[in-house]
Amino acid sequence: MPDKIKVYCPYCKKQTVHKVKLYKKGKTRKDAVGQARHVEKGKGYTSKIAGKVTVYKQAKNPTVILTCTVCGKKHPKTIGTRTKKVLELTKE
Ligand SMILES: [Zn+2]
Repeated sequence: MPDKIKVYCPYCKKQTVHKVKLYKKGKTRKDAVGQARHVEKGKGYTSKIAGKVTVYKQAKNPTVILTCTVCGKKHPKTIGTRTKKVLELTKE
């Protein structure tokens, strides 16, 4: 995927040049109520619980953050295919 792409901006309501940056998932708060409940569920002998079994896949569907160069707003875009390497630096 190139450094800059021309895609539709929902704020400008037209096609503009966007900067591409790979999205990384932030840290999960351990003290969050929902996270604490999820951890509590997995303790002891349990049956199937979502998130307990780790599934290994070759690659993920990456999400990129697109920043509009006209209005400066950001919006995410998920790339529809599983890829290992997303960004490729392009020389200008
Ligand atoms: Zn825009």
